[in-house]
Amino acid sequence: MIIEKIAESRFNDSVFESTVFGKEFSDHMLIAHYKDGKWGEATIKPYGPITMTPAAMSFHYGQTIFEGMKAYKNENDDVFIFRPEKNFERFNLSAARLNMPQIPKEIFIDGLKAIVDIDRKWVPQDYGTSLYIRPVMFATEEAVSARSSNEYIFAILLAYAPSYYEKPLSVKIADFYSRAAQGGVGFAKCGGNYAASFFPASEVQKEGYDQIIWTDSIEHKYIEEAGTMNVMVRIGNKLLTAPTSERILNGVTRDSVLTLAKDAGNDLEIRPVEVKELYDAYKSGELKEVFGCGTAVVITQYDTIGFGDERVQLPHLAEEDSFALNLKKKLKDIQYGLVEDPHGWRVKIEKEN
Ligand SMILES: *Cc1c(COP(=O)(O)O)cnc(C)c1O
Repeated sequence: MIIEKIAESRFNDSVFESTVFGKEFSDHMLIAHYKDGKWGEATIKPYGPITMTPAAMSFHYGQTIFEGMKAYKNENDDVFIFRPEKNFERFNLSAARLNMPQIPKEIFIDGLKAIVDIDRKWVPQDYGTSLYIRPVMFATEEAVSARSSNEYIFAILLAYAPSYYEKPLSVKIADFYSRAAQGGVGFAKCGGNYAASFFPASEVQKEGYDQIIWTDSIEHKYIEEAGTMNVMVRIGNKLLTAPTSERILNGVTRDSVLTLAKDAGNDLEIRPVEVKELYDAYKSGELKEVFGCGTAVVITQYDTIGFGDERVQLPHLAEEDSFALNLKKKLKDIQYGLVEDPHGWRVKIEKEN
């Protein structure tokens, strides 16, 4: 790995006063080029623009994938990342599906550790704040023929993630648009999945909702995901979530929350969840909680659910009675290094650079 440090750091304390997610980039970025069938040596260098031709193939055919993870700091200035191997594996699954080259561990994992180490002062310390880590790969070959590119850039960027008041959201259950199809790319973190979701999201926003709960594309009968999160439902004292599939992204937060729920002895069912089942449970008073799981905010509660033209309001549970809030606290405490880490999920970033 080649390391070219910035001459003078751009860091100052006002960075941590930002209230917007992912706009304050750190001093450095990691860049690696793929060409002639192999990856070149990764370089960590000052963050900034790169030059690309408008003919670069990712602009035309969307061969672009990404990951999202975070670095956390505890009171002793220790910096941790959370289950990075999972993101590494998923990145390469996404790459394979988009017919892009696999990224070696020495670039993804070792690069991640090195850049977070170098920019460790950019990791904020307040509970709830973090440094967001964005690995990304895109096609760079100069050609407009519709085929997969022979050249790529892999990059890792770091940006401040503030803590914000996480109010429960209102979500509409999709009854027309779809996020993912059978045999498609729903399980991959590829750019096109998000591009395709913005218009349907803007439509429900006009109706006063924050997000969409996606359903299966064939019948709109089963719950799949919400925004960029996996969805969990609590009916009575049972926690339900859909199995991952080619349509449903295998979230690291989903897996961690399920593990913690299992540890706590919660009643779990991983199976397809019908929209009708949710509606019937609401009618009988058994629908207690619906929430999304993802790296950005760990857990987001949904308190208003739109079934067609009908909007229903979920009960407001006290914090100690909410599965969502309890699981969220448990997971965050592990991520921030405040409690034991029984599953070995935390990876400490050693000071080396
Ligand atoms: C990123 C993402 C998730 C959540 O995955 P995490 O690993 O928990 O961050 C869920 N669904 C979609 C569609 C996503 O893009």
